[in-house]
Amino acid sequence: MLLAPTLLIFLSCQQPMTTNSEIISPDTTMNTSKTGNPYYSRTDTTKLELSDTEWQKVLPEDVYYIARNKGTERAFTGKYWDYEGLGNYYCAACGNALFKSDSKFASSCGWPSFYEALRPASVRYESDNSHGMRRIEVLCGRCDGHLGHIFDDGPPPTGKRFCMNSIMLDFEPDSK
Ligand code: FE
Repeated sequence: MLLAPTLLIFLSCQQPMTTNSEIISPDTTMNTSKTGNPYYSRTDTTKLELSDTEWQKVLPEDVYYIARNKGTERAFTGKYWDYEGLGNYYCAACGNALFKSDSKFASSCGWPSFYEALRPASVRYESDNSHGMRRIEVLCGRCDGHLGHIFDDGPPPTGKRFCMNSIMLDFEPDSK
C-alpha cells in the first residue's frame, strides 16, 4: 500500500536534480564562473586589462563581436529587450554587476534599457563620433567591453536611457 506514494515522493524529489544541470548548490561560488573564461567573476571587481587577442580566446564569438569590436545586435532580436524578470544583470564578458531590474524600463527601441547603473563604477563612458553620429558609448567598468550607448531621453528619476546589447548581459534572478 505504501510503495506507490513512497515511490512518487522519491521520483518527484529526484527529478529537478537529475534533469536540470543548471542547478548548483547555493554557496558563494554560485554562477560566478563561466566555462572557458578564467576572467569571469561576479565578486572580483579588479580592473581587467587584456588584449583583444586574449579576449578572443575566452569569449564566445557573439560576445567578442559586441565587446571588443563595438558591434550592435539587431533591434528586437536580443533576449532581454522586453524581459521583465526581477534580478541583476552582469557583464557577459567579465561578470561585473551592471544593472538591477528595478532600473529597467519598457522602451520601444528594441534593446534592453535602464535608467541607471547598479554602481557608478559599474560602467564608464566615452564619446563616440562613429557612423556620423555624436553619441556617448557605455563600457563595462571592469573589462572595458562595449555595452551600448547612453541617451538623454530616459524616464525619471535620471532622464537617462542606457541602451544595451542583450548579448552583453547575463541575467541572474533574485533568490526567493
Ligand atoms: Fe565586463
